[in-house]
Amino acid sequence: MTNHLPQDAAENSLWGATAIANPVSRQLQESLQADVLIVGGGYTGLSSALHLAAKGVAVVLLEARSIGFGASGRNSGLVNAGIWQTPEHVRKQLGEEAAVRFNLALRDSPALVAELVSRYGMACDLQQTGTVNIAHNAAAMKYLEDRCRQIKELGSAVELIDGETASALSVSPVYRHGGILDPAASTIHPLNYARSLAQAALGLGARLFQESGVEGLTRQNDRWLATTALGQVSAEQVIVATNAYADPNSPQVRASTVPLFIFHCASEPLAADVAAGIIPKRQGIWDTQTLLTSSRIDAGGRLVMSSVGRLRGWQRAIRENWMTRSRDWLYPQTRGLEWDYRWSGQIGITSNKILRVQLLAPGIFAPAGYNGRGIGTGSVIGKHLAETIVSGNREDFPFPIEALYREKRRGLRAAYYNYGSLALQFLQRR
Ligand SMILES: Cc1cc2nc3c(=O)[nH]c(=O)nc-3n(C[C@H](O)[C@H](O)[C@H](O)COP(=O)(O)OP(=O)(O)OC[C@H]3O[C@@H](n4cnc5c(N)ncnc54)[C@H](O)[C@@H]3O)c2cc1C
Repeated sequence: MTNHLPQDAAENSLWGATAIANPVSRQLQESLQADVLIVGGGYTGLSSALHLAAKGVAVVLLEARSIGFGASGRNSGLVNAGIWQTPEHVRKQLGEEAAVRFNLALRDSPALVAELVSRYGMACDLQQTGTVNIAHNAAAMKYLEDRCRQIKELGSAVELIDGETASALSVSPVYRHGGILDPAASTIHPLNYARSLAQAALGLGARLFQESGVEGLTRQNDRWLATTALGQVSAEQVIVATNAYADPNSPQVRASTVPLFIFHCASEPLAADVAAGIIPKRQGIWDTQTLLTSSRIDAGGRLVMSSVGRLRGWQRAIRENWMTRSRDWLYPQTRGLEWDYRWSGQIGITSNKILRVQLLAPGIFAPAGYNGRGIGTGSVIGKHLAETIVSGNREDFPFPIEALYREKRRGLRAAYYNYGSLALQFLQRR
């Protein structure tokens, strides 16, 4: 294989350890024809494959490693609506009309995930208990009040909650100022959602392959020809869904985002009463700290926490120790708890913090840059790409389609995220 995807050998992921069987086992070893070729087996590629196959389109999906190898198999599993930025930010970046389409398309993304889970009977621990964007200090409430107002204006059923309600949902001496409860959001087992999407797509006739990284994509007789180590696929249109995990074989997608790593620590399984003493109703919690920290309880009763950084080499201990100190600060009742699993993954940041769909060449779509909000987003984009490809009408596609784009000073900015977070983690809460 010629892929050089980042993988931290020393990491062990809770999601990998508790995953359902991978429904895809084949490596491409033949020459195939398809209407649409999809490169990348994360949510974007899998949702595209599922929705295209459901419309009777002949689809082949090629994944370089394994289904969910990228961000889709490593994330925190908070199925939130919209993007990290506010609806007004989107308006400023895209203009009024495009922003309305963009914001509305992502407003109901948790509902699409829930619908897919229910329609295809997916075994991915979807807990429809909502998520809380929680304030870590009083000053943060001003931002959250404004954010809540904007989201409500889109027609979402979010609620501004007071300090008492916040600390009842997330039992913490820090989280006592309030937050935004989104009852329509949920938590999920991220890798099992990816594998379930693959299972559903296979059931609809899509052809999925692993260990089949695309090494070249060339134009031949009005079609695109993708080559892998042992096979090839000829297709009319292509979705390059490699996003932040784009390998050197998709340099344009790679260049379109700046990598930022997020890591997780997951505890030993907690007795039901102990888990109930942390997040009693099992909402996903994400806070307003500079180093945004999320907390949730998974189906196995483990406390799963995440924040910024990569677990690699000598940086690993600094980050893990910081997470333990953060946990003791946020939830002192968990002092002494062991971490059983630790892992990290990378997200793709864009300068304007808004995802982009690049048109790499006529007939090649490349959505990327979800800026850390991709479970609902990837599912929604896959659905809309399928509709656009089938109808041939780009007018109704709710996301801007751009020409090629390169993020500037990628290496420098990635280093800033990495070492900036590390410095803070070295110093904070000692
Ligand atoms: C640690 C972490 C925490 C996160 N937490 C959340 C969260 O709580 N909520 C949320 O909504 N989002 C979260 N995200 C973001 C979300 O996981 C991503 O936005 C989403 O998974 C992106 O899906 P994707 O299909 O576009 O890309 P990916 O899942 O990254 O898939 C891309 C795939 O392309 C493959 N690939 C690369 N090159 C090739 C090639 N040449 N040929 C074939 N295949 C190739 C890769 O192997 C990879 O599997 C988080 C991300 C991370 C990393």
